[in-house]
Amino acid sequence: MLLFNTQNELTAHLNSVSNESTAIGFVPTMGALHKGHLSLLEESLKNNQINVISIFVNPTQFNNAEDLAKYPKTLVEDMAKIKTVSDDIIVFAPSVDDIYEGNTVSKHFDFDGLENQMEGKFRLGHFNGVATIVKRLFEIVKPTNAYFGEKDFQQVQIVKKLVEKLKIKVNVTSCPIYRESNGLAMSSRNERLTNKEREKAAIIYKTILEAKKRFVSKSAKEVTEFVQREFIKQPDFELEYFQIAEEVTLLPCIRKSPHKKYRAFIAVFVNKIRLIDTISLN
Ligand code: AMP
Repeated sequence: MLLFNTQNELTAHLNSVSNESTAIGFVPTMGALHKGHLSLLEESLKNNQINVISIFVNPTQFNNAEDLAKYPKTLVEDMAKIKTVSDDIIVFAPSVDDIYEGNTVSKHFDFDGLENQMEGKFRLGHFNGVATIVKRLFEIVKPTNAYFGEKDFQQVQIVKKLVEKLKIKVNVTSCPIYRESNGLAMSSRNERLTNKEREKAAIIYKTILEAKKRFVSKSAKEVTEFVQREFIKQPDFELEYFQIAEEVTLLPCIRKSPHKKYRAFIAVFVNKIRLIDTISLN
């Protein structure tokens, strides 16, 4: 396993071991790795000759200073987890300065409105930060294939739009959500929950599963009201949003169309820790 801390070192290495026809797989992460991250890496290993994982807590995508400050940083443990998947993986863990070169700000992007829904609405500037770092990492790694998790479904759509608009030569693959045994979507932020909170947080997946069942016969509005009522009953949980949206445009579902695919999106605070989840509805 190789670890590079600067883009110059990584680029020099990639240039020495690859040519135009080498398939490079890339998994961008913010570290504090769990099995969800490792499942993306496994997918990458199946289809590429060279595999790179980045570990970089990107400051420009955080709209909340406390969330950024408390984001777990566990490089040594992360390296050990990566090793359990394969020894033949390149880890890129640069510093903020190496990536942003003294100018830690986002560029501004237009994603045809995708950026204004849900995560974009509640985390102002988040997707400009995400797109800034993903574009930068794509320029450095020059991957053939990049792997992202469906847990951040809106992010996947944003990255696909970024690639399309900027004509970046990379295939973006989205991978299924990896869950804990109680159904809670794996997340680095779960580490900050107490055991009790982690157990109770199973309510998030349980509720969206029930929402999926109800969406067969009920309207988006009725399902949304059901979810809101469920969370009012839970004093330890604060529902930030529950939204049923069309998968491609991410616009809210006002009236169901049999020709469209819908997805439910949820964001919940548990003791100031923000958890998200999503489920396909049809
Ligand atoms: P993060 O480190 O949270 O920025 O996540 C890095 C990548 O891992 C993103 O593409 C996420 O969508 C993906 N990811 C995070 N959690 C999961 C999960 N539970 N299952 C599958 N992929 C995930």
